[in-house]
Amino acid sequence: MSERRIAIVGGGIAGVTAAWQLAQLGATQVTLFEASERLGGTVETVRRHGFVVEAGPDGWVSEKPWARELADELGLSDHLIGSNDAGRVTYIVQGGKLVAMPDGMRMMVPTDLETLRGSPLFSDAALQAYAGEAARASELKYAAPDQDESVAEFVRRHFGDEVLAKVGGPLLSGVFGGDVAKLSMQAVMPRFVEMERERGSLVLALTGKGSLNKGTVFTTLTTGVGTLVERMVAGLPAGWLRMSAAVSSIRRERGGWWVRSLEDGEADRERFDAVLLAVPAHVARTLLLPVQPRMAELLTMEASSAVLSALAFDREFPLPRGFGFLAPQGEGSGLLAGTFVDQKFPARVPAGGRLLRGFFGGALAETLGDRSDAEIAARTLSELRTLLGPLPEPKFAVVRRWPRSLPQYAVGHLERMDELNALARQEKGLHLLGNAYHGVGLPDIVRDAREAARLAV
Ligand SMILES: Cc1cc2nc3c(=O)[nH]c(=O)nc-3n(C[C@H](O)[C@H](O)[C@H](O)COP(=O)(O)OP(=O)(O)OC[C@H]3O[C@@H](n4cnc5c(N)ncnc54)[C@H](O)[C@@H]3O)c2cc1C
Repeated sequence: MSERRIAIVGGGIAGVTAAWQLAQLGATQVTLFEASERLGGTVETVRRHGFVVEAGPDGWVSEKPWARELADELGLSDHLIGSNDAGRVTYIVQGGKLVAMPDGMRMMVPTDLETLRGSPLFSDAALQAYAGEAARASELKYAAPDQDESVAEFVRRHFGDEVLAKVGGPLLSGVFGGDVAKLSMQAVMPRFVEMERERGSLVLALTGKGSLNKGTVFTTLTTGVGTLVERMVAGLPAGWLRMSAAVSSIRRERGGWWVRSLEDGEADRERFDAVLLAVPAHVARTLLLPVQPRMAELLTMEASSAVLSALAFDREFPLPRGFGFLAPQGEGSGLLAGTFVDQKFPARVPAGGRLLRGFFGGALAETLGDRSDAEIAARTLSELRTLLGPLPEPKFAVVRRWPRSLPQYAVGHLERMDELNALARQEKGLHLLGNAYHGVGLPDIVRDAREAARLAV
C-alpha cells in the first residue's frame, strides 16, 4: 500500500485513467480535482431514445492496443465492437458533391495504384504525381530530411498540391482539427517518415498492403466510449473525487507539492507528494509557469476548437454508403466533417433510425460556440441537406462545444517534448499526461496515464 499523497489535476480520460490505475496499484491517498461538474472531459456519451450519441470521440484506431487493453481489464471485452468495415467508404466534398475516396487508401497513399484509375476525385496530373512518386523512390530516399517538417511540406514533396488540398489536408484536419502547414510530420505521422527513410516512395512501401490489416480499423464499445470512464469511476474509492474544484496553482515547496483549488468559491491549499497534471495544454502552461518558466514556454501551442452536433432521426432515408465525409477548405461547406454513425457502428441506433454527426472546426467553431444549441443544430441540418439532399427533421439533437480541445503538434513538437520531459523529471513528483504531449487519440492517452500512475506511487 502506498501512503503517498497524490493529486490528479483534471478529470478527462487521462486523469480518470490515472486515478483508476492508482487504485489498482493500492494507492490510498489520492485526490482528483476536476474543474467542471462532470468527469470524462471531451469523452461523453449521451444515451437517449435508444440512440448512443458520442458527443466527443466515437472510438479509437484498433491498431494501437492500449484502449482495448484497458477495456478488457475493466471487464468490457464483451462490449467491444469494430467498425462496419465492409461499408467503409469516406467521401470528400468536391464541387458541392460527395466523391468517394478510392478503395484501399492509407491516409493519402494508395495501396494499389489501379484503384485510382477512373476516380473522379483526382485530375490526370494528380494521378501522374502518384505514379511518379514510385518512380522517384531513390531520389526521395536520398533527399529525406533529418529535420522535422510540416505535413504540408511532406505531402507536397511526395504528391504535389492537389493531393495535399483534396485528401492530405482534410484527413489531417479531420483528426487534429489543425493546419497542415503547421502540423509536425514527425509527431503526427511518424510511420510515413520511417517509410520515406527506408523506401523513399510511400506508394512502393504500401503497395499490396491494403488488406493486411487484421480486424477492423476502428474499435469502440456498444454502449459508447463514455462507458470506459463510467466503469473506472465506479471502481474508485469514495472520497477521491473533488468536483467543481478548479486548481489555480501548484507550487513545489518544502519537499512537497502545494495544490491550491477553488471549490464553491472557497480557496483551499493542500500538500501532496506527487502531482499528475492531466489538464489541457493551455491550463498546464499557466500552472507550470511559476514552477519552471521554460516548461511553460515549451507548452506554447495552439489548440483548435470543435463544435459537434449530432442529429438523431427516427426514420430511415437514403444516404451514400459509407462512414462519412471530409470537406476540404474552400469547398464552401461550413462542416469540417460528418459521420454516418449508423453505417459506421450500426449498433448505435434503434431499428429504423439514423444518426448523423457534423463537426465544425476552425474559425467557424469559435463563432458558433456562442450560438444556442437550437441554432447550431439548425445550421448542421441545413449544411447536411446541401450535401446529402432532402433530410427529415431530427427527433432530437445533441450539441457540444469543445473549445481549445485539440492541441496542435507543430513542427519541432517531438524535440520540445523531449526537453519538457527532461525538465519534468527534475521536478520530483511531477507527471504530465493528457493529449498535449504524446498523442491526441485515446489509446496514446490511456497508455501515458497508466504509466504516469505507475511512476507516481
Ligand atoms: C470532437 C472530438 C472528437 C474526437 N474524436 C476522437 C476519436 O474518435 N478517437 C480518438 O481516439 N480521439 C478523439 N478525439 C481526441 C480525444 O477525445 C481527446 O484528445 C481526449 O479525450 C483528451 O483527453 P484529456 O483527458 O487529455 O483532456 P480533456 O478531455 O480535455 O480533459 C481535461 C479535463 O481537465 C479539466 N480541467 C481543466 N482545467 C482545470 C483546472 N484548472 N483544474 C481542474 N480541472 C481542470 C477539464 O474540465 C477536463 O475535464 C476527439 C476530440 C474531439 C474534441
